[in-house]
Amino acid sequence: MAEFENETIAYFSMEICLEPHIPTYSGGLGILAGDTLRSAADLELPMTAVSLAHRKGYFRQHLDPNGQQTESPENWCPENILEGADTRVTVEIEGRTVHVRAWRYPVQGATGHIVPVYLLDTDVPENSEWDRTLTDVLYGGDARYRLAQEIVLGMGGAALLQALGMDAGVHYHINEGHAALLTLTLLDRQLGSRPPWEAAETDLESVRRQCVFTTHTPVPAGHDTFPESQVARALGERTVALLSATRCCDDDGSLNMTYLALRLSRYINGVALRHREVSRGMFPAHAIDAVTNGVHAPTWTSQPFQTLFDRHVPEWRRDNLYLRYAIGIPVTEIREAHAKAKREMIAEVERRTGVHLDAGAMTVGFARRATPYKRADMIFSDPDRLRAIVHSTGPLQIVYGGKAHPNDEGGKALIRHIDEESHALEGAVKVVYLENYEMDLAFKLTSGVDVWLNNPRKPLEASGTSGMKAALNGVPSLSVLDGWWIEGHIEGVPGWSIGGSTGVAPDDAAEANDLYVKLEHVVLPLFYGLPLAFAEVMRHAIALNGSCFNTQRMVGQSVSNAYFPTYDESTPEHASVPVRL
Ligand SMILES: *Cc1c(COP(=O)(O)O)cnc(C)c1O
Repeated sequence: MAEFENETIAYFSMEICLEPHIPTYSGGLGILAGDTLRSAADLELPMTAVSLAHRKGYFRQHLDPNGQQTESPENWCPENILEGADTRVTVEIEGRTVHVRAWRYPVQGATGHIVPVYLLDTDVPENSEWDRTLTDVLYGGDARYRLAQEIVLGMGGAALLQALGMDAGVHYHINEGHAALLTLTLLDRQLGSRPPWEAAETDLESVRRQCVFTTHTPVPAGHDTFPESQVARALGERTVALLSATRCCDDDGSLNMTYLALRLSRYINGVALRHREVSRGMFPAHAIDAVTNGVHAPTWTSQPFQTLFDRHVPEWRRDNLYLRYAIGIPVTEIREAHAKAKREMIAEVERRTGVHLDAGAMTVGFARRATPYKRADMIFSDPDRLRAIVHSTGPLQIVYGGKAHPNDEGGKALIRHIDEESHALEGAVKVVYLENYEMDLAFKLTSGVDVWLNNPRKPLEASGTSGMKAALNGVPSLSVLDGWWIEGHIEGVPGWSIGGSTGVAPDDAAEANDLYVKLEHVVLPLFYGLPLAFAEVMRHAIALNGSCFNTQRMVGQSVSNAYFPTYDESTPEHASVPVRL
């Protein structure tokens, strides 16, 4: 993209999954960030990213024989594998000067283009003991710790890029609210020596021209908010004055990072069509667009399918849209490729747990963050019915994975409940819960199971991405119509729905009933009775969903709608038009 030579897209994210053994991510948001950078590098975009080093990772999950989760740190040493940046910067936190250094990770694209990622690190001898820990634990600690981390990420990150010479022509992409404080650094620069109270609408507009924002959270409680007293203590006098000049704080003076990012961004997007509507409902004062998430296709396609695609649609690596032509691949070859990926998954499960899964049995996968709204145990709401379904249609086995945040008691209880049910169903349904779900395991599961199950409570799944990974591997989704699946789904074509398509408050019991009905009368009979018809669904998952729900398409949309827009911002199309789903 030589035409954007003098521009930089500075992508800020609290978590980025760079590779499986670097524990700088917790789940979907970090995977998405990493996949975004991998596609940006493939597309040769002038992008640079900023995150934190997270020396103790998110955490390593341990499950005892009762499914009780405990955690331990996932330590890593960036200095052992990464180069340090030449520059250091400082930020002010609670009146102290905190020194920040950075480690550079090069994300290399298919043609060799590099997107550098700077992982900020406060573990330097000049800092106080507490300040040295600020870049240790992702989503750890209390609110004071979190706010300090967000100062390092947003303000430290903006300072670092300037020190590295990225000054003019920078488009800041705030990926979720955690990095929103960078806008205050930009406002400070805009004002120069002028006092904060002189900040005018034109100054805010100048900051706004530099920023784009992606919101990921469809519930108000999911947005970081800090009380006024805490903000005043952490930020210092000038920054607090800058913040008040933005007039984005609540009436009680509290700071909501999402409001700050919304107020100071020229372009805002949600991560799927439904999520855009939900976000517009939450933030009616803002024009909000949608750019549906994706996954990095070469990263998430198993070796057997890579080989198959290379043979039939070799252009797919350069242009993922060619996966649309997977519609011409013989279904027998799709079945063979999937059988190989399934064997690899089964071997991995056996290696990790000693449990041997049956290669001929319908294997359902469910793996994602363990938190109540994802309802991981829905398939166990009526164990006797599940037993009867299996008895009349054929064997079923279920593979689970997913970490609960250390403070999420509801999420931990879910894992225990699945464990309990798996014992109760012994002899009828084989259930395994795999410990420490991370990128490698996600790759094995999303490519190796037969059906990918997802049943979140609507409309809480902003997008979801693991079903997209499954689709690239010919694994159909059986999912509630929420997030991306509203766009990806046609009943019985690339997969199946659970429950209706309306956005009204869901009824857990009715959706569980529908899940059983679909398993008993549609999915299992097709799998066991009409394997070639089942393979047709697999093929459609690749051709219809794999070709679209990838980060190559997503980053391309960001380029033309957010970074280097080709539209005139005053056109009616760009104005917020409420659309009812
Ligand atoms: C893809 C992925 C997720 C996100 O899954 P969702 O379907 O978006 O909930 C979470 N964790 C890991 C390790 C992943 O690879």
